[in-house]
Amino acid sequence: SAKEKGRNGFQFFDQQMQLKAERTAYIHTHIKAGLENNEFELYYQPIVNIRTATIHRAEVLLRWHHEGEFISPDEFIPVAEQTGFIVQLGEWVRKEAFKTIDLFSQNQLSVDLSVNVSTMEFWSPELQARFLASFDDTVRELGLDYFPYHMLTLEITESLMMQQHTNIANLLQTLRKRGIKVSVDDFGTGYSSLSYLVNFPVDQIKIDKAFVQKLTDGHRHIAIVEAIASLSRSLDLTVTAEGVETKEQLAIISGNQIDMVQGYYFYRPMPKREFLNLLFEQAGYGLL
Ligand code: C2E
Ligand code: MG
Ligand code: MG
Ligand code: MG
Repeated sequence: SAKEKGRNGFQFFDQQMQLKAERTAYIHTHIKAGLENNEFELYYQPIVNIRTATIHRAEVLLRWHHEGEFISPDEFIPVAEQTGFIVQLGEWVRKEAFKTIDLFSQNQLSVDLSVNVSTMEFWSPELQARFLASFDDTVRELGLDYFPYHMLTLEITESLMMQQHTNIANLLQTLRKRGIKVSVDDFGTGYSSLSYLVNFPVDQIKIDKAFVQKLTDGHRHIAIVEAIASLSRSLDLTVTAEGVETKEQLAIISGNQIDMVQGYYFYRPMPKREFLNLLFEQAGYGLL
């Protein structure tokens, strides 16, 4: 009967909720030890300048290999955010990324790295102060006389800027004065107000892959990308298109004078060694 079906439907829903809760608990229990046991690794996804056909930048993407399984950041980042562990995890990511930046700079490889930062890492004035302090500690621990800040971009999401915290704007401004760039990730997916682009110190925006992947669905989707591209030009912001997978998508992106492209069409995220080889190849050094 319909009544029974309804009950089964609820049962199914309950089971899904139960499974999700168990998965969250599992991640919660294992994530801390995962960091201590070296289960995390940074992958690098090249961002191609399609005008010059060169790689100028890569996004740093966190990977977790746990007990023969690969757990996606879309699963563990939200858990890390809920538990506050994201703060430690973020500090580890930046430390590894800074080492890579140093390696590039020592080898005269002019490639910038974009590092994701969670909104949670800026949650309170205490965390904001900790962010800056740990940032400086990391640079000091690496024992660098000079850190090439211009090679670092921080990717933040719109929700951070919607909070309109002058503290956060000040923190980002402090970092920008050193040469660090700030990028708005997943642009267009958060909120419709664009006023923050005027008030917030940002250098770049990344068009979310959801828009890019709908480009071939019709004119309305193309119009959105056109609008974002033209807005960015007026505000003097660099635009990157994320999630480009097909020739058709690339043609539309390119036709809108968007030069920076990230997506499976060119490269998937890869381990550090593979990315280094790619850069050495591009620089004409041959493979390592
Ligand atoms: P994101 O920052 O928007 O990163 C881009 C995501 O799109 C990555 O997923 C990347 O692998 C994927 N991607 C790139 N090109 C394509 C494409 O052509 N097709 C498809 N289908 N996907 C593409 P990933 O690595 O699974 O990361 C997911 C999200 O997890 C990231 O989205 C970011 O929000 C978060 N994340 C990853 N690493 C970190 C990190 O170190 N710290 C923080 N706070 N968040 C991270
Ligand atoms: Mg990102
Ligand atoms: Mg993104
Ligand atoms: Mg995303």
